[in-house]
Amino acid sequence: MSDKHIEQTVLNSNDNRISPSHVCDIFLPQDGLQERWKAFTRRRFVIAETGFGTGLSFLTACQQFTQFRQANPTATVKELHFISFEQHPLTKSDLIKATKKWPEFAHFSQQLHAHYPPAVSDCHRIVLDDGLLTLDLWFGDITDSIPQVWTNDDGIVDAWFTDFSQIEAADIHQTTKSTAALLKSKTIIKNIAILARENSTIKAITSVLNTHQQSMLEQSLTEAGFEMAESHSHSNNPTHHLLVGSVRNRQHQANSKPWFTRTSATDANDVAIIGGGVASATTVLALIRRGVNVTLYCADSLPAEGASGNRQGAVYPLLNGSNDCLTRFFGPAFFYARQFVEQAAMNSTFSHDWCGVTQLAWDEKSTNKINKMLSGNFPQELVHALDIEQTKQKTAITSNFSSVYYPFGGWLCPQELTRALIRQAQDTGRLTLKSDVDICGLKSTNEQWQLTDSTGNQFTHNTVIIANGHRFSEFEQAKQIPAYSVRGQVSHIPTNDTLSTLKTVLCYDGYLTPQNTITKTHCIGASYRRNSADLAFCEIEHQDNKQRLVHCIPDAEWPKNVDISANQSRAGVRCASRDHLPFVGNICQYEALIEQYKDLRDNQATAETVPIYANLYSIVGLGSRGLSSAPLLGELLASQICGDPLPLPHTVLNALHPGRMWVRRLVRGKQLGSK
Ligand code: FAD
Repeated sequence: MSDKHIEQTVLNSNDNRISPSHVCDIFLPQDGLQERWKAFTRRRFVIAETGFGTGLSFLTACQQFTQFRQANPTATVKELHFISFEQHPLTKSDLIKATKKWPEFAHFSQQLHAHYPPAVSDCHRIVLDDGLLTLDLWFGDITDSIPQVWTNDDGIVDAWFTDFSQIEAADIHQTTKSTAALLKSKTIIKNIAILARENSTIKAITSVLNTHQQSMLEQSLTEAGFEMAESHSHSNNPTHHLLVGSVRNRQHQANSKPWFTRTSATDANDVAIIGGGVASATTVLALIRRGVNVTLYCADSLPAEGASGNRQGAVYPLLNGSNDCLTRFFGPAFFYARQFVEQAAMNSTFSHDWCGVTQLAWDEKSTNKINKMLSGNFPQELVHALDIEQTKQKTAITSNFSSVYYPFGGWLCPQELTRALIRQAQDTGRLTLKSDVDICGLKSTNEQWQLTDSTGNQFTHNTVIIANGHRFSEFEQAKQIPAYSVRGQVSHIPTNDTLSTLKTVLCYDGYLTPQNTITKTHCIGASYRRNSADLAFCEIEHQDNKQRLVHCIPDAEWPKNVDISANQSRAGVRCASRDHLPFVGNICQYEALIEQYKDLRDNQATAETVPIYANLYSIVGLGSRGLSSAPLLGELLASQICGDPLPLPHTVLNALHPGRMWVRRLVRGKQLGSK
């Protein structure tokens, strides 16, 4: 796109604020944000806007908040969270061109560019300056996305910036002609109000609306729950007509189904995590970014001795063509994983390579699966097809198949990453790591959780997260979660002249990684033995790891020459679920849930909130893709525990809820028994 074209796009579709001073004039000072931040009594201030455009409001707010924090280091407000909706996102290269105009924001725009996602619908979370600033970019039509933003009973937004001259103009203009358009704008306004906290403010630009349309809009905002002040033109720019209002006496409630409720911790300052793998490490980091003190209880003498202990694991999303919850979770989770790992790599060293992942269409079944996936029309940057020749070029190794390629994918060493994250957390002084502590009991006493280890020592914490992989079922409170153990063994093979040329991770009915140049080995794997937690070396699985490579790529010589004679391997136990999605959030009280929801099929309208164990959470069931999912899951759980906006749409949150499988059965009128 030419510069002129970008400017035109910005002006036409989604950003007519054109200069930082405009944004300051219109949104930021008049709201008295600096004054509000000084008096603010919560940790995180949340701004939401309609229309991200070039990110000008966001960048301006970042700068203002950072300056505020520098000038007021003891203020209670520590973090700024910015939520923005955009139907027609600029491409990354256009965004880079557009933001070049504002060198004063370079510190923030460079971080934004680094992690700006392709136009995949739903929410993309970008964390800047180690959690000081958080951006939730909701791509797609706001009419669809705003009802998907989660809120609790209190609301989540402190200040709304809405530009009705961009978003609503067409609809409001048509209201006399089109009932559908009127309903659309009312839906948006209603949801703006649902997300708004008590005492939150709204500022709406209405420049292109005539007087009648402005009064209609004002009426809609009033009906939705805003107390509107006198509308006025902005003094510096009379074309910017503004409506200003605030919420007094909030009437709205949480917007999730009662059986999918998510609650924050009553005291999020002291959190214990039982675990020590990648799920624990990413959650620790997300909590520490929010100023939480964490104690990590790990049964092993070092972190990442369980499933997260491998030398090389593939990082790529689990997608299908049907845009279901799997795709809607793994697309954004994968981008977030890449962001998270890149940020971690700025502070620590661990083996990883964003070399891309190639998935071969090696038989009819895999070809059909790949074709179905490609029907999802994903952006090229996420996944695209390669023909046989392109596959050969991309992988630099012989195979006679077409494929799909994930350019943002690659491999990393989960053991090194997990340990690096935990060291980073320890360096902040907020993480206490208790190694060789095998927690075997969990009891609630006096609104606290008492943890007992295998030698009888007891520890007390306000909030507890169960993140111990396949051993979750050893806890009475979690044992009914319908996840199961799956043993897996990877084989480590020495590199050779052919294998060392492999440029990308290669997936077939298994996977082969490029060489780790430090160990001069590759990983092939992995076996998949359900309901087994055995960790002993298995000769058959070791042979099978090679055999699958030979079987899938029969025309090439190099698979036959793979040397597994040294019997180098590693076994671990995954924690998996039937629907390939993890269980993240409040742990439900199984027996009470069955009793309370026994008639759920018929009385959903009057159903009460799901019974949960207060301040007890799980992050388990990460299956075979924990490296792609753990960073966003950790961020989700930390956000929930701390009462922050959540980075996923309702539909996906529901699909990750620890009680989902039970509720689904009860809604269909089916009985629940034991696991
Ligand atoms: P784990 O890493 O198992 O961590 C559990 C932790 O809990 C351990 O540290 C353990 O010591 C601790 N613990 C357990 N019980 C207690 C207790 N009672 N008290 C205190 N601590 C306790 N994923 C990918 O994305 N890509 C891949 O290529 C890939 N390949 C894989 C290959 C194999 C062979 C296996 C086994 C898994 C693979 N995975 C892969 C999956 C991935 O490794 C997992 O999803 C991920 O490691 C799960 O992390 P976790 O933290 O949930 O569990």
